[in-house]
Amino acid sequence: MSLLDHTHDPAARSWVDSANAAGTDFPLQNLPLAIFRPPQGTSKQFRGGVAIGDQVLDLAGVAAAGLLQGAAQQAANAAAGTTLNGLCGQGPAAWRALRHGLFALLKDDAPEPTRAALRPLLSPQGRVDYALPVRVGNYTDFYTSIHHARNTGRVMRPDVGIDLVNPNFRSMPIAYHGRASSVVLSGHPVRRPKGQMMPPGAPAAVFGPTRRLDYELELGVLIGRGNALGEPIALAEAEDQVFGIVLLNDWSARDIQAFEMPPLGPFQAKNFATSISPWVVTLAALAPFRAAWVPDAGNPPLLPYLDDAGVRAQGALDITLEAWLQAPGTEALRLSRTSFRHQSWTVPQMIAHHTVGGCNLQPGDLLGSGTISGPEPSEAGTMIEITHGGRQPLTLPDGSQRSWLEDGDTLVLRGWCERAGAARIGFGECRGVVLPAA
Ligand code: MN
Repeated sequence: MSLLDHTHDPAARSWVDSANAAGTDFPLQNLPLAIFRPPQGTSKQFRGGVAIGDQVLDLAGVAAAGLLQGAAQQAANAAAGTTLNGLCGQGPAAWRALRHGLFALLKDDAPEPTRAALRPLLSPQGRVDYALPVRVGNYTDFYTSIHHARNTGRVMRPDVGIDLVNPNFRSMPIAYHGRASSVVLSGHPVRRPKGQMMPPGAPAAVFGPTRRLDYELELGVLIGRGNALGEPIALAEAEDQVFGIVLLNDWSARDIQAFEMPPLGPFQAKNFATSISPWVVTLAALAPFRAAWVPDAGNPPLLPYLDDAGVRAQGALDITLEAWLQAPGTEALRLSRTSFRHQSWTVPQMIAHHTVGGCNLQPGDLLGSGTISGPEPSEAGTMIEITHGGRQPLTLPDGSQRSWLEDGDTLVLRGWCERAGAARIGFGECRGVVLPAA
């Protein structure tokens, strides 16, 4: 089944000139959604918006103007409020109708009266305020990169044998339940957390600011309609539950994590902050960048609830991802570049596994993909991998060194998709500066 339609035509152009610029993250073929507020100085409420070039189009204004029909108008009405949870809950037919409606309004053959009605609803992206795209009711973080698992296993558990990947990793997409209240938007500063740590050879735990602050390069999946308690989502229906994808930084305190994790998993090491990007790239926009999924070599046979022909044929997504470190007073340094296509498990498998025991997902729930590390050393998605647990510090452009993130450092994630025969689309960025401990 082809997932492509006229909205993926790489030749399609917009009457908004900046959407046709080479290298833009937001051409007509992308149309990602955010929650924003028009330029500062106005007292308007937050509302939904769609990115087009370097502009954001006010969806509350589009809805009020009645420029769309039927399901597209209903979807725009749902996007006019202060979160996108209502639109998440409308499901894939509504999302598709909105995409097709906005595409027609913004395409270069839209009539002049339509353009005239829309022009006052455009604002430069750099002059608006953003809010979290959804009210996150629940946040789950997965662990699905075998390269990340192996790299960190070597650092955290040097006493263990050759294959440092636990048997459960090879059998299912493993995860822990995270903290929704501390999910923050890109741009929100992150305060260095304090906690308990057990330094090597110390007689007892010490308390203080983490000395091993790290980032994790991830994607975040926003859930659509969700499911009733006790009614699992089958793998074949799991994609209909994906409203869209954002960049996600799972900030982590490695020394706190190492002491607290056994036997119940991460807690204080992770719950102080998780950053996400403002723009939600829909699964429809990602259709040209599907890729085949192949289980990791050496895995046991897949259990039936995690296996189907659709996932094997096109369950993976080829999303290029980068992490950059901007330290004070020096040039930014690229820490990694990789692709989500290397991941050991796909998004539909995460959803099928999350719900297989009956757990209910709700509109706007957030799933972290788990750290995204590719097979090469330059593709590692954390400091702990890059610096081998701090033993091999990075050298910054000014000659200074970093084993872990320091106060004043800014961590930036970027993502985009590129392929011959398709328009390049991007995710914008997810950034956060580290503040000193309180
Ligand atoms: Mn994580």
